[in-house]
Amino acid sequence: MSTPPFDLFVIGAGSGGVRAARMAAQRGARVAVAEMAALGGTCVNLGCIPKKLYSYAAHYADAFEESRGFGWRFDAPPVFDWAQLKTQRAREISRLNGIYDDLLRRHGVALFHGRAQLTGPQEVTVGGVAHTAHNVLIATGGHSLWPVFPGAEWAVTSDAMFDLPRFPQRLLVVGGGYIACEMASIFAGLGAQVTQLVRGTAVLTGFDQEVAAFAAAQMRQHGVAQRFDTTVSAIERSADGMLHVTLASGEVLPANTVLHATGRGPNTAGLGLAEVGVELDKRGAIPVNANYQTCVHSIHAVGDVTDRLQLTPVALAEAMALVDHLFGSAAGHPPRQVDYDLIPTAVFTHPNIGTVGWSEAQARERCNGGVRIFRSEFRPLRHTLSGSSERCLIKLVVDAASDRVVGLHMVGPDAGEVVQGFAVALRAGATKAVFDTTLGIHPTLAEEFVTLREAS
Ligand code: NDP
Repeated sequence: MSTPPFDLFVIGAGSGGVRAARMAAQRGARVAVAEMAALGGTCVNLGCIPKKLYSYAAHYADAFEESRGFGWRFDAPPVFDWAQLKTQRAREISRLNGIYDDLLRRHGVALFHGRAQLTGPQEVTVGGVAHTAHNVLIATGGHSLWPVFPGAEWAVTSDAMFDLPRFPQRLLVVGGGYIACEMASIFAGLGAQVTQLVRGTAVLTGFDQEVAAFAAAQMRQHGVAQRFDTTVSAIERSADGMLHVTLASGEVLPANTVLHATGRGPNTAGLGLAEVGVELDKRGAIPVNANYQTCVHSIHAVGDVTDRLQLTPVALAEAMALVDHLFGSAAGHPPRQVDYDLIPTAVFTHPNIGTVGWSEAQARERCNGGVRIFRSEFRPLRHTLSGSSERCLIKLVVDAASDRVVGLHMVGPDAGEVVQGFAVALRAGATKAVFDTTLGIHPTLAEEFVTLREAS
């Protein structure tokens, strides 16, 4: 006897998939989720969460060193235990996996472990069993793109970095994006000798370039060696396990580990998408309309698999918008749209980068009446005693015609925490005049944002 159709069958239990499943169930829908790996997806298992935990670990190195300036004395330098950090991380991640499992089950979501495949516009097969559903959601996320050159198989991607069997004393990081910069900072902080190889002339090319250059300089101050205009042409492994990385220039660099962090692509292979008529774009991502519907109307997609903005909060917002579109009205929740403007983001380099809105270059292109730039670069109070030479940059980009603050950027401790709050102000349309009449909280780094008076 066949089971009645689900209202929603979600493929992929990452941030977007789990949020959609839970919310749809809360709206009274009959929901199933299929996942072939650990619950929680990239963010929980291989991305944001382990990355942030390791970033905390790495910050201790600075904290120990800086504490001497505040009167702390210890005779032997603290010792870092890689195995202990990995064990602690694994314990926390499996706790989170359990929470996701519990969350889905408590909401009555049917959970299928295994590879799911579309076998019809309204049919998903897992482990040889076909399930019908009125709506299907593809929330399969993305994967690291692999480089193509001789010996590329000796490199690793970010998936492997948190669980490397041995701590990489010499680490080469290829790439200049989010993952490369974060991993370079984290592993340098943990004590590795890190060299970052960047193919162009700058890291974080999508960011305000003054901010990116300032952050890159701070990373170098924190021990990350950076080489620009540099590409890898081959990797060889010698009998002792050492890697020898040949650059396009012919120079050879030794390394224990080579991390390739050169972008991520959507997980669309093997899902049976083409067979049921779902078209992909040229990057292999699933195009969707404003309601996350693919060209096959019963099939939807959210998150990294659509290759818009690869950020967890974006996937969550899309999932919630989709669920309200599908099931919200009956449950008293009107449809909502995700606004892709002014999405704040942080890069957890050391120090952090936080940003919301336009870069100076974007504003110069878009603001017809001109742009006013306010910036300040300074030594944080903490470092007057810490001995650290770390500096902080804050920058406001203002549309001269309307006085609206259209970009806000920070490089400094906890920049993500600071910028999250200001993102609300920007979304509320705050002008520079509003910033000027806001009193600061003294002494903080964030107060600098409301005390900038002279345009540069
Ligand atoms: P990014 O797109 O951020 O960066 C890719 C980097 O790789 C760029 O520096 C790019 O250079 C370089 N690159 C691309 N192809 C090659 C190549 N063939 N050889 C050498 N370098 C190359 O990708 P990531 O993988 O770092 O991260 C993927 C996404 O994940 C991010 O865009 C972000 O959305 C998300 N993410 C978010 C985080 C956060 O919120 N904190 C943390 C980690 C990831 P160029 O600039 O010249 O193109």
